[in-house]
Amino acid sequence: MDCIFCNLDDSKIILENEGARAIFDIFPVNEGHMLIVPKNHIVSYFDAREEDKKYLWKLVEECKKYLDEEYKPDGYNVGINCGEAAGQTVMHLHIHLIPRYVGDIENPRGGVRGVIPEKRIY
Ligand code: 5GP
Ligand code: ZN
Repeated sequence: MDCIFCNLDDSKIILENEGARAIFDIFPVNEGHMLIVPKNHIVSYFDAREEDKKYLWKLVEECKKYLDEEYKPDGYNVGINCGEAAGQTVMHLHIHLIPRYVGDIENPRGGVRGVIPEKRIY
């Protein structure tokens, strides 16, 4: 299948478990931005089976520990774009794990509310 996340190069895998792989985002929004990707080709989070989700979230936890050690961020945003209307561009499910650093933007209030930028700060 012509899917970039089904055809990941082994050298790009940072961590993995039985059902999921973690890679760095090629266009990171911050240093250490990771993507946690199921080994099965699943388009939307809401199509994933419980077992797929179990492996994904277990790997998110392990990536968080890895990033804590390697990058020492001050916080995280965790997010999934589900569907084109929500901004999904790669149609193979992935969880964004985005380290945040004090001062990376002037006022971080609202975090993931920033999917609608003018509504982020409330
Ligand atoms: P989406 O908008 O679908 O949630 O996000 C897709 C993400 O995948 C983007 O953050 C983009 O930078 C990242 N991306 C796109 N192509 C590649 C690739 O070939 N390799 C990696 N590692 N990340 C990619
Ligand atoms: Zn795929």
